Amino acid sequence: MARRKRRPMGLRGQILCGFGVLILVVGALLWLFQIVLLEPFYRTVKTAEVKAAAEVVQRHLDSEDLDDQVEQLCLNTGISIVVTDEMGQMLSGWKASRKECYLDNLSQSRLRLADLFDDVNLNGGRRLEVVRSPFVNQDGTRNQVVLYVTICRTPAGLNRMVVLESEITPVDSIRETLLVQVTTLTAVTAALGVALALFIARRISRPLTAMNEGAKVLGRGDYATRFEERGAREVRELAGTLNYAAQELSKVEGLRRDLLANVSHDLRTPLTMIKGYGEVMRDLPGENTPENVQVIIDEAERLTSLVNDLLDLSKLEAGVLPLEKTRFNLTESIRSMLHRYDKLADYRFPFYFQQDVWVDADELKISQVVYNLVNNAITYSGQDKTITLRQTVEEGKVRVSVTDTGEGIPQDKLKDIWERYYKVDKEHKRAQMGSGLGLSIVKNILDMHGGTYGVTSTLGQGSTFWFELPVAQQSPESLPGPRG
Ligand code: ADP
Repeated sequence: MARRKRRPMGLRGQILCGFGVLILVVGALLWLFQIVLLEPFYRTVKTAEVKAAAEVVQRHLDSEDLDDQVEQLCLNTGISIVVTDEMGQMLSGWKASRKECYLDNLSQSRLRLADLFDDVNLNGGRRLEVVRSPFVNQDGTRNQVVLYVTICRTPAGLNRMVVLESEITPVDSIRETLLVQVTTLTAVTAALGVALALFIARRISRPLTAMNEGAKVLGRGDYATRFEERGAREVRELAGTLNYAAQELSKVEGLRRDLLANVSHDLRTPLTMIKGYGEVMRDLPGENTPENVQVIIDEAERLTSLVNDLLDLSKLEAGVLPLEKTRFNLTESIRSMLHRYDKLADYRFPFYFQQDVWVDADELKISQVVYNLVNNAITYSGQDKTITLRQTVEEGKVRVSVTDTGEGIPQDKLKDIWERYYKVDKEHKRAQMGSGLGLSIVKNILDMHGGTYGVTSTLGQGSTFWFELPVAQQSPESLPGPRG
C-alpha cells in the first residue's frame, strides 16, 4: 500500500520546536537543581561549614583564649561547640541558641563525654552523623542536626575532643517558594520564547516565501523577474544568486532567439539561391553553365559549414568528442593550414615565428582553433586585407596570435563574443556569414586543453586574438627531417 508522503515541517514549526525543547530543558534543569537537589546541597554546605569550624577550633586548642575563640566562632556560625579532654572534662562549651540541643544532654555528664571520646577514638577519631534534634517544634516535629566529633592531639601532646552541632533548618518552605518561582519563570520564558520564535520565523520565512513565488514565475519563463535582496545574509545571498541566474537565463534566451533568427536566415538564403539557380538551369538550357553550377556548390558548402559548426559545438559541449593528444609541430601545422588560403589571392597572411615549436595537443582541434580565428579575421578584416599571424615562446609557453586591421570590437563586447551565438553586429549581413559559433568552439577546445586565450581590440584599428599552450620537448623520433 502506498504510504502518504509526510509534508516536511515548515521553518516556523522547526524554530518553535527548537525553542520548545530549549525551554523544556532549562525548566527541567531549574526544577532538578532548585527543587529536587536543594536539600542534599544544603546538607553538604552545612557539613562543610561544621568541618571548617572544627578546624578553626583545632588550631586554638593550645591557646590561652580557647574559650573566647570558641564563643566567637559559635556566635559567628550558629554552631554549638564543646571541647573536652580525654577524660571527658569540659574545657570549653558554647551553645548557639537557647533551644534544647543534643550537646546539652552530652555535656551534663563527664562520663558520657568520656565514653564518646573512647568510642570515637576507637573508630578512627572522627564521626559525622545527621541525627534528630531533641528539641520539639511547636508543630510536634523535630529538626535534624549535623553532629561532628573529632579527636585530635595538641602540639603539647594532649588528647582533645571537639564536638560540634549545627541545626539543619527544614527547606520545605523555601522549596515551595522556589517551586512557584521556577514555574512562573518557565511559563514566562515559554511565552517569550514562542513570541521570539514566531518573530524570527517570520523574518526568515517572509523573504523566502516571496523568493519562492518569484522563482515560480522565473520557472514559467518570465526572465525579467527580480528578487529583493533583504533579510538575513544567507537569504540576501540566495536572492543575489537567483538574480544572477535570472540575468543569465534572459541572456541565453536572447541569444537563443538571435540564433534562431540567424540560423534560419543563414539556412534560407543558400537554399533560395540553390533552388533559384537550379530552376533557372532547368528551364533555360543556355544557363546551364559551370559558373552557375559553382554558385550552387558554393552555397551548398556554406550550408555544410554552418551545420558542421552547430554539430561540432553541440558535441564539444556534450563532451562526446574526446581529446586525441599527440606531440606535433604546431608551427608546421599552422604553415600548412595557411596554404589552404592560397586561392584567396587578394589577402596576405604573413606568419612570423622564430623556431618550430612542438606541443602535446589534439592537432585537428587546434587547427580548427587557428582556422576559426583566421576565418573571423578574414570576415572582419580591413581594406589592406592583411591577416598577421605571430608565434612567440615565453616561459615554456607558446603564444599564437592572429591580428587583423578591421573595424575592431567595442570594449564592452569583448567578454560576450566568446558566448554561443553571440554577434556584435545584430543586423545580419549577408557579407558576414558567421553563425556566431566560431569563437565558442575556440573557447571550448582551448578549455579542454587547459590553454589560455584572449583578445585585444581597438575600434577602427583591428583586433588580435591569441591563445597559449605549454611547449612540449621535441621528442627524438619526431625530429623534423629536411622539409621543402
Ligand atoms: P561569427 O561566426 O559570427 O563570426 P564568432 O563566434 O566567430 O561568430 O564571433 C562572434 C562575434 O565576435 C562575431 O559575430 C563578431 O561580431 C565578433 N568578432 C569575432 N572575430 C572578430 C574580428 N576579428 N574582428 C571583429 N569582430 C570579431
